[in-house]
Amino acid sequence: VSSVDATRASLERISAVDDSINAFLHVDPDGALATARDVDERRAAGEELGPLAGVPIAVKDIIATKGLPTTCGSKILEGWVPPYDATVVARIRAAGMPIVGKTNMDEFAMGSSTEHSAYGPTRNPWDTDRVPGGSGGGSAAAVAARQVPIAIGTDTGGSIRQPSALTGTVGVKPTYGGVSRYGLVAMASSLDQAGPVSRSVLDAALLHEVIAGHDPMDSTSIDRRVPDVVAAARRGDVSGMRIGIVKELGGEGFQPGVEARFGDVVELLTKAGADVVEVSCPHVEHALAAYYLIMPSEVSSNLAKFDAMRYGLRVAPDGVDAPSAEQVMAATRDAGFGDEVKRRIILGTYALSSGYYDAYYGSAQKVRTLISRDFAAAFEQADVLISPTAPTTAFKFGDMMGDPLAMYLNDVATLPANLAGLPGLSVPSGLADEDGLPAAVQVLAPATADDRLYNVG
Ligand code: GLN
Repeated sequence: VSSVDATRASLERISAVDDSINAFLHVDPDGALATARDVDERRAAGEELGPLAGVPIAVKDIIATKGLPTTCGSKILEGWVPPYDATVVARIRAAGMPIVGKTNMDEFAMGSSTEHSAYGPTRNPWDTDRVPGGSGGGSAAAVAARQVPIAIGTDTGGSIRQPSALTGTVGVKPTYGGVSRYGLVAMASSLDQAGPVSRSVLDAALLHEVIAGHDPMDSTSIDRRVPDVVAAARRGDVSGMRIGIVKELGGEGFQPGVEARFGDVVELLTKAGADVVEVSCPHVEHALAAYYLIMPSEVSSNLAKFDAMRYGLRVAPDGVDAPSAEQVMAATRDAGFGDEVKRRIILGTYALSSGYYDAYYGSAQKVRTLISRDFAAAFEQADVLISPTAPTTAFKFGDMMGDPLAMYLNDVATLPANLAGLPGLSVPSGLADEDGLPAAVQVLAPATADDRLYNVG
């Protein structure tokens, strides 16, 4: 198959199904086909190209793409076209992958269903009355609906892994610092990480290899060799491995069908020769509370730059003759941000205010340290840890929108890895009996041991 054929097939599939799925915010047929033609020519001329050269890809709309709109699912960035590529995008281009478009997401990656997108929700290809998860529902649905073979997402508290779980795809959050954040519009800088969404573990590993590695443009980028994730994905041998079930990430609040498929996975791993043990991470119980203080604090700071002067939207306040900069800023932020974004900016501003800083942000950071220590202790007893990725299968539109806390709970199993900087991989575990929808299991490894995820996955 030539790259032009593959890219055309992807673009045709997008035209055919995206009216009902809404996975894409922008499609770039000309740019994608130009890359495809170039790759085909270079291959015909005998040039050695990497394994993903010519494979069409979709990129979450929170990642800067030169010459292509980057809205973050927000009205405030409508019409903004970045003048530069994120490092992840530069590497994808260097690998010869045609970028067919930018995918839908909850506004600024805040949400678990894509219902918070300013451009309408993405629908789950398994059942279009249901959400695809979020915030990266667009990337996951695009892969699940066979619009693209592979995509890029970002994961701050689960936004790659949870949508992957809800759409029956594979999703990976690499070790914090493993993939450059340069050009990724920051949600919560100490938690954000970009990674692959794909149909197989091996595909994810091939993309991981393309995007990972040191980048001087990101001060938190890890300066050491990337583990051989592709060899690990090919190996797939768990005999003699110690696999820990995290006791706290299951039980109450987890759907029976999700738990049943998790049980199947444990049985499968045991049969394959793994030594499955139970481990306890007692402070993980407080991860959600800590996350919802740390994340909004960073959000309130990171989103301060949308001041009506630098990017995108500018709204004049009603009935004011010569408005001040503050009035324009207020009117623009009021019109440009959605409710969930405003809620988090207010929460974060409150948590960081003098007088409350120690009680909220300071305490949350201490809890974060305790969670990291719990994981470090668990990794003394096990090489990797496993749990269901999300407590439920895909839920119906509107089910959680009236209740932010219920929505937040869908990330209870994924966000501990972000707090501790650990890599995590979600892989389908089968269909839940009660609704016939995909369930998934996640694998967690110590920081920088991403190869273990791919081996077990
Ligand atoms: N759903 C979580 C949130 O709303 C995670 C978001 C993310 O990973 N970007 O914060």
